[in-house]
Amino acid sequence: MTEIIDGNAVASEIRDGLSEAIETLADEGARPGLATVLMGDDPASQTYVNMKQRDCEEVGIEGTHVDVDGDAPAEELYDAIDDLNADPAVHGYLVQAPVPDHIDYREVIRRIDPAKDVDGFHPENVGRLVAGDARFRPCTPHGVQKLLEATAVDTEGADVTIVGRSRIVGKPLANLLIQKADDGNATVTICHSRTDDLAAKTRRADIVVAAVGVPELIDGSMIDDGAVVIDVGVNRVEADTEKGYELVGDVEFESAAEKASAITPVPGGVGPMTRAMLLYNTVKAASLQEQVDVEL
Ligand code: NDP
Repeated sequence: MTEIIDGNAVASEIRDGLSEAIETLADEGARPGLATVLMGDDPASQTYVNMKQRDCEEVGIEGTHVDVDGDAPAEELYDAIDDLNADPAVHGYLVQAPVPDHIDYREVIRRIDPAKDVDGFHPENVGRLVAGDARFRPCTPHGVQKLLEATAVDTEGADVTIVGRSRIVGKPLANLLIQKADDGNATVTICHSRTDDLAAKTRRADIVVAAVGVPELIDGSMIDDGAVVIDVGVNRVEADTEKGYELVGDVEFESAAEKASAITPVPGGVGPMTRAMLLYNTVKAASLQEQVDVEL
């Protein structure tokens, strides 16, 4: 029987744990604060920040939101960032990507106080992660690790193939999984658009992680019998539904599920974990800044 990994259930357990940590912080007079910054009015980004704000409200994090006009000069965004860096009630924040074309996203990331960089994208945090001394693990890779842990998948000695080498998913996940740590110790192959014979690399893996952005690129013929499949992809494809589209992953679920021992669905797999780990990083940021020990 193939196990369908329930990301909503695992995320809900993590959020319950966070509620306890938030109570501990409250006992010390500290309330974690998360701010979201949105430049422009991209509808998908708007939906993402709304969800993050709703998540905050549900677990007792003080959520604030800053809108910056999409046509404003970079300095206006920088001013908003400087204000958040200086605000002691904001323990963590993020600038929702993508930013408008006239903004240099890397410069934006460099301006964020690394102690408040709950996405874990600042070069200092990337460096710490690579060095094995992570302050904030980026939310999606951390969520994947937690899903594996909750499914009792041992990464030690496992052959893991990650398809996708992005800054936010593939690369940090590879770095985490090769760490000398209980949730690491894997042997990792990273694939990308120039990889030769992708199927050979996925077929030899005990764990396949797909983070590509190509609908159903990985099918059952590319999966070894009994492998664990984690599908990070979220792709809108046209469908005969009320909205006119449906969400599919980077994995062809039906054929892959026939081969896999465990697999994440889309939606309801990695997505809810990414959201939960942002809350986790916010609570961690608050605990570090307020110098209150909490169990995470
Ligand atoms: P990027 O576009 O930044 O990276 C995609 C990666 O896939 C690149 O490394 C690219 O290679 C590689 N790639 C593209 N086509 C192929 C191919 N045919 N064969 C092998 N590799 C290929 O994407 P992200 O990492 O940001 O996101 C990946 C997916 O995950 C998307 O669907 C996104 O929506 C989803 N996502 C979901 C999240 C969640 O919470 N569930 C969070 C973040 C992302 P190259 O480097 O050579 O271009």
